[in-house]
Amino acid sequence: MTHNEHRLMGCSSDEEPGAGTMIFPQIGSHDQAVSNRSSEFIRRYFPLTNVTSWNDWRWQLRNSFTTAEALSRVMTLTDDEKNTLHRLKNRLPLRVTPYYLSLIYDSEPGAPLRRTMIPTSGEMIITEAEKADPLDETGSSPVPGIIHRYPDRALFTVTQFCSSYCRYCTRSHSVGKLGHLTKDEWEIAFRYLEEHTEIRDVIISGGDPLTMNNKKLEYLLSRLRSIKHIEILRIGTKIPAVLPQRITPQLVSMLRRYHPLFLSLHFTHPDELTKETRRACEMLADAGIPLGSQTVLLKGINDYPATMKDLMHKLLTVRVRPYYIYQCDLIPGSSHFRTTVETGIDIIENMRGHTSGYAVPQFVIDAPGGGGKIPILPSYVVESGPEKWVLRNYKNNRYTYPNKK
Ligand code: SF4
Repeated sequence: MTHNEHRLMGCSSDEEPGAGTMIFPQIGSHDQAVSNRSSEFIRRYFPLTNVTSWNDWRWQLRNSFTTAEALSRVMTLTDDEKNTLHRLKNRLPLRVTPYYLSLIYDSEPGAPLRRTMIPTSGEMIITEAEKADPLDETGSSPVPGIIHRYPDRALFTVTQFCSSYCRYCTRSHSVGKLGHLTKDEWEIAFRYLEEHTEIRDVIISGGDPLTMNNKKLEYLLSRLRSIKHIEILRIGTKIPAVLPQRITPQLVSMLRRYHPLFLSLHFTHPDELTKETRRACEMLADAGIPLGSQTVLLKGINDYPATMKDLMHKLLTVRVRPYYIYQCDLIPGSSHFRTTVETGIDIIENMRGHTSGYAVPQFVIDAPGGGGKIPILPSYVVESGPEKWVLRNYKNNRYTYPNKK
């Protein structure tokens, strides 16, 4: 990925990637939604910046933090964080939006959101089971950008850029490193989708597709909508959590023209549900876009039943339906993030029956080597046979269901 680096207000600054000549500026549409926390951060570190600029997603991208030096100007890094930041060559780069950093900058080392964005030396430990492409997405990729694993759906990775890079990213082998697909590669991908009439559902992913400008996004959506056998479009994004300023009225009114369109939102921790993020989710929900959440289970970050339940409850209040909790994939340098599988089962056990079913996502393992998502459930079946099934409920009480008419 190429970035035009220059300095602005003590932070590194990048041109919005992938915009090319198709720029569609949107400024100042969220003026009301600046939390006290963000206001304090702006006052301290961007004193010459007004709220309109702060709320411009392009400003956020241009002023994202990409180096240890830039981070050091607004927060006290530990030696471990500093050293690791200087050893990231050829690995997932650092990138955090000013907005998301405003949630992190004054937190203690080890705080949940801080750990998701600021690398530590745990990332340098590579274990035997870890692989650069643990889900073998390359092996299921017939043409650049398309991953076709399941019969009736395909993933289209339209960009390798994100506004902020999560240290546990499954695609850390490619995001932030590979360039964008060329126009010709997009056309090859469209042709593949046209020829494969069995595909009825396309998941637009990346990187983060919502880092593209509206014009490019609309071209993508309209091109996919022109393929008659594609019924459902989905966009996978972490934008409402890391760059809620991107959810503008213009974006939302464009997206709603491409229904049925679903958004799979990536959330990690209840602290992400700020005033700005809530507003972004509500705008999307008001446009009739079904919202689901995906969460990676991360050691010391969200691996407590109470934290996960709090996150799921907060998501429901902004009309985001909890969809998946993922066991952390075996990417290189992720052992410090990974929990045991039992931890995930315990979290589901502590939610199922203890809160509404809408709040309980599926816990899945994306099978190493490309086997797809496999749901993992606590075992509620005590005994089964042709005569009867003996089941236990969330209180561990047993009930018999006769298996005959
Ligand atoms: S937003 Fe998604 S694709 Fe981007 S770094 Fe985070 S997990 Fe990876």
